[in-house]
Amino acid sequence: MNTEEIIAVIERERATLAPCILCGAPTRGCGVWQPGPLDAELLGQPPGKYRWIVYHLCDGHDLKDTATFAAAERAIFAKLGGAYPTAPGKATA
Ligand SMILES: [Zn+2]
Repeated sequence: MNTEEIIAVIERERATLAPCILCGAPTRGCGVWQPGPLDAELLGQPPGKYRWIVYHLCDGHDLKDTATFAAAERAIFAKLGGAYPTAPGKATA
C-alpha cells in the first residue's frame, strides 16, 4: 500500500462513524499502526508481508499518553486473535 492509498483509507475511515477501539463510543477519529516484524508475526502475518491497521479512537482518551496507544495495540491484538507480547512495546522493531 503506497502513501496515497494509506491517506485514502484514513480519509474514508474518518468519514465513517465507527466505535472507539477502547470504549466503543462513536467516533470519527482514527489512528494508524504498522506492526513491527515481531508484532506482525504474533498477529499471524506471513513473513515478508506487512500491513497497516487503521483503528478508531474517541476524544475521551489522552492522545499524548503512550498508554493510550499501548491499550489500543492490546485491543487490536485481542480483536485479531494474536498473542499480545508479555512486555508491551518490546515486540515492535
Ligand atoms: Zn473511546
